[in-house]
Amino acid sequence: MSGTPDGLIPSQAVPQFLALVEELSVGEPVPCRRKPPELWWRAKHEEAKGLCRQCRAREACLDYALAADERFGIWGGRAPNERRGTA
Ligand code: SF4
Repeated sequence: MSGTPDGLIPSQAVPQFLALVEELSVGEPVPCRRKPPELWWRAKHEEAKGLCRQCRAREACLDYALAADERFGIWGGRAPNERRGTA
């Protein structure tokens, strides 16, 4: 997922972050690297979630977001409330 600045990776999420980086390092750019990043940060995020469903890195992306307790944005095709299980 786009948007996480270097140096802000929570220590408990480093393994998941490295797995995600490895996933992103091969093949064609994933949807959030090809489309306007703001799609993943809007209140209305159905378009981003649809693009995530086509993404090869979806599982690694969601694993990272859960480990890092990302509070904002769409990660792995899930909104913050869906990641917290409150949707
Ligand atoms: S699952 Fe979605 S947010 Fe994660 S890398 Fe793929 S397109 Fe980006």
